[in-house]
Amino acid sequence: SEDLSPFYLIDKQHTVGADYEPKNLVHLEKNDLFAINKNNLSLRPESFEALKVLAQAAKNDGITLTVSSTYRSYEYQKNLFAYWVKVDGLEEAERESAREGTSQHQLGMALDFAPVDDAFADTVPGQWVYKNAAKYGWSLSFPHGYEDITGYRWESWHFRYIGVEACEFQKKWFGDVQQFMMEFLDAWEDKL
Ligand SMILES: [Zn+2]
Repeated sequence: SEDLSPFYLIDKQHTVGADYEPKNLVHLEKNDLFAINKNNLSLRPESFEALKVLAQAAKNDGITLTVSSTYRSYEYQKNLFAYWVKVDGLEEAERESAREGTSQHQLGMALDFAPVDDAFADTVPGQWVYKNAAKYGWSLSFPHGYEDITGYRWESWHFRYIGVEACEFQKKWFGDVQQFMMEFLDAWEDKL
């Protein structure tokens, strides 16, 4: 079967099955463009290419990005959510961790920069990414103040690759809120 669209709506109400895994995942190796802090990282080829472009732009500004999480399988996500429920309790876990089948990470187009916590926003790489990611097609999925819309609290470290043009549309027509655009595209597709 084909990989899902880069604009596939996935959230607490819109899911993918346990057997969905993108084809041709590219394994992230240690390299000179960006840092990795795990060995089992992989992305869909288009987002991998886009990560390299983003990382090169950061590098040109003297900044090294560190990638902490990328594609996650249904099973991995299931265990991860259970872990956060244990650590933080169910209510908190629901605010910043996705249940299996509902995570953008399963699509292979999203990533988390390190550190995966609020501190990222105040780091030099965090500020650079916040300012520049959209120019390279990376969209902040869970912006500040939209938990009631996205289902998740602000995650300054989590970006989804949607392409430069879609980032421009997101900003121009959807108040720079990715969720609004994805819901619109999903609703529109049903009408075509
Ligand atoms: Zn994430």
